[in-house]
Amino acid sequence: MTRGKALCIVESLSHKNYMELLLSQDKYCKYISKEQFLKYIEGAMEIGNCKAEDIKSEQKNVTFRDMPGIMKSEPGIETVTGPGGYQIAAYTVFQGNHCKVVLNEDVIELKLKCLKDWAADDISRQGLITEINSFEKLKGLHLAHEYFHCIEYLRCERVYEKLEPAEVKVLFGKSQKKIRTVSEISAHSFVKSLFSLSVSPVMLDYITMLTTGMLDPDEFQKQLEKIRIAKESVC
Ligand SMILES: [Zn+2]
Repeated sequence: MTRGKALCIVESLSHKNYMELLLSQDKYCKYISKEQFLKYIEGAMEIGNCKAEDIKSEQKNVTFRDMPGIMKSEPGIETVTGPGGYQIAAYTVFQGNHCKVVLNEDVIELKLKCLKDWAADDISRQGLITEINSFEKLKGLHLAHEYFHCIEYLRCERVYEKLEPAEVKVLFGKSQKKIRTVSEISAHSFVKSLFSLSVSPVMLDYITMLTTGMLDPDEFQKQLEKIRIAKESVC
């Protein structure tokens, strides 16, 4: 597959497709049946959407700029700026009753540049990213994602603990495996719902990975194929 073709596919995928893409890459996905696969997707998306609705019921029209204030108002959350040693835009360190959110601003800048390059000659693509076409907006988006994980941790509501684990047959019985990707599905759905985004936040990651060469277009094609396999699995 060419890079151009892959970059066209990214804009055709729905948020749910992206969630399927994430779940199909979970290391225990091969133990999930077709029915469970759909249950995890819908259950995790619902949890993220509900959490966003809770916040929106208290504060209407939450914007990206509100995120630093929302983070500050939550006891136990601290936000710092990287470099943190990871090539990801944001991550959280969980310790005791404290969450340290680390933002890598240079990675956020890079992501923004990739999005702008991707949309440069195409008016419809520019329309897709108008909601997230500035550094401040993209920063708010990443803060909201980490905020969801902080809340999960601080309130002992980890989504992967809430949803049923997958069962794996072992020599003498069954072993249970937590599907950690469901937390990611909820966090991304939370962000999409909180800001009423028209595109999936995961689409932005794929545009970045494909334009920078971090993800090979053929590998992307293989990942898409994994969704089909996971949805047909009858284990
Ligand atoms: Zn996450």
